[in-house]
Amino acid sequence: MKPAPFDYCCPDSVEEAVQLLAANVGEAKIMAGGQSLGPMLNFRVVRPGLVVDVSRILELDFVRERKDGGLSVGALTRHRVLETSRLVARCFPIIPDIMQHVAHLAIRNRGTIGGSLSHADPAAELPMLVRLLDAEIVARSTQGERTVSAHDFFVGPLSTVLEDDELVVRIELPGMRHNGWAFEEFARRAGDFALSACGVLVRLEEDCVRDVRVAMMGVGDTPLRRSEAEAALKGEVLSDAVIERAVQAACEGLEPRQDLHASPEFRRHLSAVLVRRCIRRARERALSVNH
Ligand SMILES: Cc1cc2nc3c(=O)[nH]c(=O)nc-3n(C[C@H](O)[C@H](O)[C@H](O)COP(=O)(O)OP(=O)(O)OC[C@H]3O[C@@H](n4cnc5c(N)ncnc54)[C@H](O)[C@@H]3O)c2cc1C
Repeated sequence: MKPAPFDYCCPDSVEEAVQLLAANVGEAKIMAGGQSLGPMLNFRVVRPGLVVDVSRILELDFVRERKDGGLSVGALTRHRVLETSRLVARCFPIIPDIMQHVAHLAIRNRGTIGGSLSHADPAAELPMLVRLLDAEIVARSTQGERTVSAHDFFVGPLSTVLEDDELVVRIELPGMRHNGWAFEEFARRAGDFALSACGVLVRLEEDCVRDVRVAMMGVGDTPLRRSEAEAALKGEVLSDAVIERAVQAACEGLEPRQDLHASPEFRRHLSAVLVRRCIRRARERALSVNH
C-alpha cells in the first residue's frame, strides 16, 4: 500500500520544528529514522496531514559524557552509534550489548533513540534500557522544555505522556557505579522483536550487593522495573538461593499477553530463565572485576 497524501517539511533547527508542531497540532507527525513511522504510513495506520522530518536537525545528534559519569544523548542518535561508540561502551558496557539485538543492521543505521522511545513498543529494547538506567527524557515545545522520568514516560503499548506538540530532544542517563551487568533476550529469529528480555546492573562490594537494578520487557504493556527482585538482592551475597528468591520475586504478578507468538505461561517461564541467567552473568562479571 501507499501512504495517504501528506505535506512534508524538513526543518533544520529544533526551534523551527516545534513551531511547525505548534501550528499543526493534531495534523503533524514527527519523522526521525522513519523505521516505524514508514510502515505505519504505508499501512495507513496513521494519516497525518503533515510529516515533520527532523532527521537533519544536527543539534539533536550527539552523545556527551556527563560529570557524574553518565551520558547525555541527543534524540537523533542512531541505534548504530549507541552500538559502536567507545564512549557509550566505556560508560555503560550494557548498551552496545543490548543494541546488537535491535532489529537488523539497515534498521539500526536509520532508527533513532528518540523515535524508539516515542514509539514505545513494549517489546523494544531502548524503552527497557531507559527504565533500567533511571533515565530522564527531555521534550521541547514552543512552551519550553520539560523533563519526564523514564518511570513516568511510558503509559501503555505505543503510548507515552508526550503531547502532540512535543519533540523529544535528549535523553539523560545518570551515571551509576556498577561493576556487573547482563542482558538476555529471547527472540524467535535474530532481528525479531523479543518475546521476553531482561537487563541487570549490579554493584558488588566485598561480594555483597550494594546496588542493583532489574528491568524486564515483553511481559507487560510497558517496560518494567522489578523492585521486589531488587529488594531481594540488596545487601545480600549472591548465592544461588538468593538468586532464586529474586527470580521468583521478579516473575511474581507478571501478566504477559497472549499473542500469536507465545502463551502467557511460556513467556512467564521464559522470563524466569532469562532473569536467572542475567543475575548470574552480572555476578560473574562483577566478581571477575573485584578479584
Ligand atoms: C522489521 C523491523 C524490525 C524491528 N525490530 C526491532 C527490534 O527488535 N527492537 C526494537 O527496539 N525496535 C525494532 N524496530 C523498530 C526500530 O528500532 C525503529 O527504528 C524505532 O522503533 C523507531 O525509531 P525511528 O527513529 O525510526 O522513529 P520513526 O519511525 O521516525 O518514528 C516513530 C514514532 O516516534 C515519533 N517520533 C520520532 N522521533 C521523535 C521525537 N524526537 N520526539 C517525539 N516523537 C518522535 C514519530 O512521530 C513516530 O510516532 C524494528 C523495525 C522494523 C521495521
